[in-house]
Amino acid sequence: MKVLVINSGSSSLKYQLIDMETEAVIAKGNCERIGIDGSKLVHKAKGNETVIEQDMPNHNVAVALVLKALTDSKIGVIASMDEIGAVGHRAVASGETFKKPTLITDEVLEKMEELCDLAPLHNPAAIVGVKACLAAMPKTPMAFVFDTSFHFTMPKHAYMYAIDYADYEKYKIRRYGFHGTSHKFVSQEAAKYLGKKPEELKIVTCHLGNGSSITAVDGGKSVDTSMGFTPLAGVPMGTRSGDIDPAAAEYLAKKEGLDFSQALTYLNKKSGMLGVSGISSDFRDLIAAANEGNERAQLALDMFAYSCKKYVGAYAAAMNGVDCIVFTAGVGENTASVRKAICDNMQYLSLEIDEAKNNEKNNGAIRDITGKNSKVKVLIIPTNEELVIARETVELL
Ligand code: ADP
Repeated sequence: MKVLVINSGSSSLKYQLIDMETEAVIAKGNCERIGIDGSKLVHKAKGNETVIEQDMPNHNVAVALVLKALTDSKIGVIASMDEIGAVGHRAVASGETFKKPTLITDEVLEKMEELCDLAPLHNPAAIVGVKACLAAMPKTPMAFVFDTSFHFTMPKHAYMYAIDYADYEKYKIRRYGFHGTSHKFVSQEAAKYLGKKPEELKIVTCHLGNGSSITAVDGGKSVDTSMGFTPLAGVPMGTRSGDIDPAAAEYLAKKEGLDFSQALTYLNKKSGMLGVSGISSDFRDLIAAANEGNERAQLALDMFAYSCKKYVGAYAAAMNGVDCIVFTAGVGENTASVRKAICDNMQYLSLEIDEAKNNEKNNGAIRDITGKNSKVKVLIIPTNEELVIARETVELL
């Protein structure tokens, strides 16, 4: 069966068509600037990249363009849309309503609409993506695969916030965690690579990208994770503050004349690496600037590594040990200096990396950068969230 995976953002739509017999990617691409001037589709298939510059006023037009590219006589990979057996949609927030990947029905869409309140940046885009796909493929089964699902194994003492219990019950205010498909994938790949069953391992998975989260995976299950009720919590990120005393946010809002939602926008979009460095949210820019002596770029990088290191230590404590640390995503897979800064001075865990191996270029494969005296394995594992979404969709069917 061929599964189309859709990751819909407010102005973008990423897709992959995966052949589930071989798990090979047949085609993939990205519609950018939907609803904005200058929209384009970048389509990659059969070793070629095609850029189609076309007005995409909404997601319906974007989906129609994707399907046209997939079935095109020159750049296409399938004869007709009927070859698409199912569509898996990435969804960020589930509340406690959806604890598992879920087949999409009218009722499910209605419940997702109710959850928009919880994830105003993400859920509306996912719903728009689904509706656009349903308009083009009304008979094709579709599923939501949630970023949160993998984390529903967290024990209550890890996911609860210390607020009035009645408010947890009434509003479901709690830690949900995100990037679950990635943490699940790389922790399973780590077990495979080490020739062990997931049940035998305590793993800390570090998904470090533009958004970053760290998860404690004990015996194959997420038992704690750094993101919270929303993806704003945890380590500092490209533009997100990560953990901050809420009273500091209130004080800032008062001083700057911001209302609550403006203060949250500040913490989501103007903080993190960008806010501290004053230069960029992108780690490549920060490293280049730090190498030229920019102190604030260096400070942002130091704060990031320090925060990640604290989470690794905290999760080693939570699990009573750690057998393996996994680095994944844009920064985790590509940035040796960040991995080194996180793993430096971890003798108390008997953790050490091999610097030469750590400095080798990313070749897209799993890399073992464990130092020779290290008791803890340190692996770099390329993530593949789309494959997990496709697998979960097929499993549901
Ligand atoms: P997200 O999916 O959260 O948008 P990514 O996982 O793509 O983010 O990570 C983006 C980050 O990874 C950027 O800060 C970027 O600088 C960093 N990065 C470092 N090296 C590379 C590389 N070779 N390719 C892509 N991203 C890289």
